Amino acid sequence: MSESPYRAGHVAVLGRPNVGKSTLINALVGTKVSIVSPRPQTTRHRMLGIATFPEGQLVLVDTPGIHADKGKATASAMHRMMNRAARGALEGVDAALLVIRAGQWSDEDTLAYDALKGAGIPVVLVVNQVDRYPDKTELLPFLQTVNEGREFASLHPVSALKRSGLQPLVKTVLGLLPEQDALYGEDEITDKSQRFLAGELVREQLMRQLGAELPYATTVEIERFEEEMAKRKGAPPEPMYRIGAVIFVERESQKAIVIGKGGARLREIGTKSRQQMERMFGCKVFLETWVRVREGWSDDEAALKAFGYTE
Ligand code: GDP
Ligand code: MG
Repeated sequence: MSESPYRAGHVAVLGRPNVGKSTLINALVGTKVSIVSPRPQTTRHRMLGIATFPEGQLVLVDTPGIHADKGKATASAMHRMMNRAARGALEGVDAALLVIRAGQWSDEDTLAYDALKGAGIPVVLVVNQVDRYPDKTELLPFLQTVNEGREFASLHPVSALKRSGLQPLVKTVLGLLPEQDALYGEDEITDKSQRFLAGELVREQLMRQLGAELPYATTVEIERFEEEMAKRKGAPPEPMYRIGAVIFVERESQKAIVIGKGGARLREIGTKSRQQMERMFGCKVFLETWVRVREGWSDDEAALKAFGYTE
C-alpha cells in the first residue's frame, strides 16, 4: 500500500450552542492547553484548536459571520448580511464541520449549511451526542430527513463526550484538505495565546448564560494578564494568574442585563469563567470582570464587528 500524502488545512467548526463543539474540539485536539496558537492569522478566523495527526493537521477555526449559533432573533439580520459576510469569513476555509445534536436540526443549521455550500466548501455533518440514543436505528429517519436535498461530504454520528466515532471523522476531514505540510508546530503555546483563550472562556460563559438575551455586539477584552507567585502560609509559593476581563456592550440597558439582579449574573459568569481558566491553565486564577458601555458605536459598526469585519 502506498503511503497517503500529508494533508493540512483550515476547518471551520459551526453549530448551535450546547451541541458539543467545545467537547468535540477538545477531543480532537487531545489536550485542552494546546488549543490556541499565538501566531498572527492571515485570515479573519479565530483559531479554536489545532489537531495534529500522523497523517495531517486540522486547524479548527471559528468563522465570524456565518455563525449558526446566534439564535432566532438575529436570523433575518444574518440572512441580510450572509452573502457579504460569508465571502470574508469563509476565505481560506478548506472544509467545515457542521455540528448538531442527534435528533435536532434547526433553521440556524440551514443558514450555516447554505452559506458554506454557497462558498463551495465541503460540509461534514457531525451528528453528536449519539450516546443518548442506545438504539441507533432510531436515528435513521432523522439522518434521512436532514440529508434530503442536501449534499454533505459525509455524515458522521459521533459522541464527543465518549470519544466514539472520531477516528473515521478525522480521516474523512483530512481527505478534504489540500496536500501540504503542517501549518503550525505542535507545541506553540505562549502567554499570548492564554490571554486570548481567557477572553474566549468569558465569551463562552456570556453566551451560555445569556443565550438569546446576549446583546449581539458584545465583545470581551482581556485588559490584564499577569503571572504572580501566590504566597500561602506554610506552603511554597505557587504561580497564579491575575486576569482582568472587560465585557463591552453598547448601551446601559445591556449592561444591566449582563450584570443581572444585584450583580448575580456577572458573578456567575466570573465564577464559571475562572473555574474554566483554572482547569485550562492548571493554576489558580484571580479573575476580575467589568462591564463597560462602549459609546459612539453606530449600529453599522456594531453589526460589522459582530460579523467579524473590523479588526
Ligand atoms: P458547545 O456549546 O457546542 O461548545 O457545547 P459543549 O461542548 O460546551 O457541550 C455542551 C454540553 O453537552 C456539555 O454539558 C457537554 O458535556 C455535553 N456534551 C457534549 N458532547 C456530548 C456527547 O457526545 N454526548 C453527551 N451525552 N453529551 C455531550
Ligand atoms: Mg463551546
